[in-house]
Amino acid sequence: MFDELSEKLQSTFDRLAGKGQLTEKDVDIAMREVKIALLEADVNFKVVRDFVKRVKEKAIGAEVLKSLTPAQVVVKIVHDELIDLLGEAGRLDLSGPPPTVIMLVGLQGSGKTTTAGKLANWLRKQGHRPMLVAADTYRPAAVKQLEVLGEQLGIPVHSEGTEPPPPDIAERGVREAKHKAYDVVIIDTAGRLQIDEALMQELEEIKARVNPREILLVADAMTGQEAVNVADTFHKRIGLTGVIFTKVDGDARGGAALSIRAVTGVPIKFLGVGEKLDALEPFHPDRLASRILG
Ligand code: GDP
Repeated sequence: MFDELSEKLQSTFDRLAGKGQLTEKDVDIAMREVKIALLEADVNFKVVRDFVKRVKEKAIGAEVLKSLTPAQVVVKIVHDELIDLLGEAGRLDLSGPPPTVIMLVGLQGSGKTTTAGKLANWLRKQGHRPMLVAADTYRPAAVKQLEVLGEQLGIPVHSEGTEPPPPDIAERGVREAKHKAYDVVIIDTAGRLQIDEALMQELEEIKARVNPREILLVADAMTGQEAVNVADTFHKRIGLTGVIFTKVDGDARGGAALSIRAVTGVPIKFLGVGEKLDALEPFHPDRLASRILG
């Protein structure tokens, strides 16, 4: 992710650095290039417009252009604004009486079931006792897939096949966790190829029954702005507490990750960086900004 954007921004800033002293016009040209690079990376156009405006205002400040290394200062401004855009570091709210309930939602194929396993694995490494709940009765293989993941990881999975209503499964799963003193419950919910009313009603019902502390949207970074639209719709309907972007190890342009916070207000909490069960990283805006700028 971000390979192309990173390359373009670097060549813009290399050119800027080669100039020594900078004029307003130099900054203007550079910002036009930054704007194009961000748009080509599929960043939401309003986000790009505001971003470039903010950078320009700061960069054209007299002290910057008069400084000894103006290009470096401009890069620093872009770096800080990127961090600002990406939001704060991803942290889960695990406060309150156990078990803490985390609901994973998202479209089919986004990586939801795999991410449930990854998250359970990550939480266990942090010293928690997680339990998984297989409440995706819609995709035929999802329940089995989660059972297999649980087995591989040695993490318990509450599953009841595909017959019972998912809200019942979720509620009984949480009850079992409480009974057995598991402190975090991760519920894998159903997805669809597209958002529909039945899905939203089911998720609302699960939410009402299990009172989740976190509702995390699992979104495929490869789907670009579509992921932002999906997040917006889910957020308005059921209220998201965060997003986990998957497949950032692929060649996604990265625009979704750079837009989602500004467009929807929902922070990114984790990144899925591969198919393996340990390929999940807490989100660090500063690291990502540094990676983008090389
Ligand atoms: P679900 O329908 O949302 O439950 O999706 P799955 O969990 O079955 O995942 C769909 C596909 O995406 C599987 O082949 C996963 O291995 C793959 N996948 C999930 N997360 C990642 C990731 O972070 N990187 C890569 N490369 N593949 C992923």
